Amino acid sequence: MSISIAHFIGGQEVPGTGTRRQAVYNPATGEVSGDLHLASPADVDAAVRAAAAAFPKWAATTPLRRARVLNKFLRLLEDNTEKLALVISAEHGKVVSDAVGEVQRGIEVVEFATAAPTLLKGEFTENVGTGVDSYSTRQPLGVVAGITPFNFPAMVPMWMFPVALACGNCFILKPSERDPSASLLIARLLKEAGLPDGVFQVVQGDKEAVDALLAHPGIAAVSFVGSTPIARHIHQTATANGKRCQALGGAKNHMIIMPDADMDQAVDALMGAAFGSAGERCMAVSVAVPVGEKTADVLIEKLVPRIEALKIGVGTDPENEMGPVVTAQARDRIVGYIDKGVAEGAKLVVDGRGLKLQGYENGYFVGGTLFDHVTPEMTIYKEEIFGPVLGVLRAASYQQAADLINAHEFANGTAIFTRDGDAARSFAQSIQVGMVGINVPIPVPMAFHSFGGWKASLFGDHHMHGPEGVRFYTKLKTVTARWPTGIRQGAEFVMPTMK
Ligand code: NAD
Repeated sequence: MSISIAHFIGGQEVPGTGTRRQAVYNPATGEVSGDLHLASPADVDAAVRAAAAAFPKWAATTPLRRARVLNKFLRLLEDNTEKLALVISAEHGKVVSDAVGEVQRGIEVVEFATAAPTLLKGEFTENVGTGVDSYSTRQPLGVVAGITPFNFPAMVPMWMFPVALACGNCFILKPSERDPSASLLIARLLKEAGLPDGVFQVVQGDKEAVDALLAHPGIAAVSFVGSTPIARHIHQTATANGKRCQALGGAKNHMIIMPDADMDQAVDALMGAAFGSAGERCMAVSVAVPVGEKTADVLIEKLVPRIEALKIGVGTDPENEMGPVVTAQARDRIVGYIDKGVAEGAKLVVDGRGLKLQGYENGYFVGGTLFDHVTPEMTIYKEEIFGPVLGVLRAASYQQAADLINAHEFANGTAIFTRDGDAARSFAQSIQVGMVGINVPIPVPMAFHSFGGWKASLFGDHHMHGPEGVRFYTKLKTVTARWPTGIRQGAEFVMPTMK
């Protein structure tokens, strides 16, 4: 059965004026589960107007009161975690336990944002000059937009809007058209928590809606997470239109395995990091770099039986470790990369192509795949596959492994597995990547730190959530004040200096 999925504008679900529709699929069965209304520019404009109308009152609401709404939302999220996880799994395909983890990581950003009164505390200097005081405050930007990818339909929006709302902004979310329903459940929970109408809104849609947001003069800032070509385009267009923009892009995350690493720990870490969520994570490890031939041989020997034994199936079966990929196109793209890897001469050690599951013959499943002897020239090394495909690139030395990472176009996350403190310290200090793990395969920063990569993995100056999120969603104002008794007589024509 297919349900109608539309927008959340002005505090209610509305069909909008757009006439275009797009099917939403259940990736495990291949059946159509939703009929998505794609927003027209008029729908985007209606959302911006509603947000602009709500902004003055929300901005003037004390940070403590804003935090109270977020606290209520936090409790509702905790009560509805399972429900939200099921909605995510049904449209994304990931196993429910993984979706619960995604919601939990989002909840942590809400917890961070409930500290709004502390986060927004400014600075005060008494007597910057005689009888003159100076203070700085951080004020909201206005109406801001978030454009998010399919792979974390709850967590990535929650990297953005809790902080934006805590800072006093109104937020318009344009979720991925592939798994749009989680955003509507979130909008309903925010309303139930007491968020005033218009402060958080959802416009469903594709490029047309995004272009309308980027061009709209009523949008002050844009947060984007998605693939690198779109991130680059969003950043260029948004900034050319005078908007503040942070645009996070794709990734190719390497994990170095040093000869002294605990190989069982490294293999466990690789299994989760490469194949969790079917590899559809921007922090997934897609390249393993064992240092030394012996390390590589042991790694392959230990990985093969584990990959062959992966439990793959529908996300709602708690036994399963990996679900389908998101769409038939994603499956075909991933299979195309595996074909290409073979054609380019990498050694296909475990082949995930052609996987058919009984009862789910039309689902978009790809089995865990392992390539050995990948080289830096190969397409499967250079490009982001975004599927359950792990490539092993053998390095002769630590320096060769580090040089590979530093030469790559993407620089989102990376990890080293070692017992050698010197190697780990040197890696953390010198590697040219935004998020680094030491014996931690997916080093996603906690909510009170900030998330973001370097190079082609992030365009803009600010990472997401944590202190960087507060800076992104506020502008700094500095006030210098003097009262009449401190004012001297006469006009001053030279550059004022403090007396
Ligand atoms: P995507 O770039 O296809 O889509 C992201 C968003 O952009 C969606 O809302 C989509 O509707 C919109 N969009 C798509 N094409 C557009 C166009 N031509 N013009 C304007 N808007 C457009 O990404 P995806 O497939 O949904 O997500 C997977 C990608 O996201 C991967 O590359 C992954 O690495 C990346 N990602 C990065 C991070 C990070 O933190 N760096 C986190 C999650 C996902």
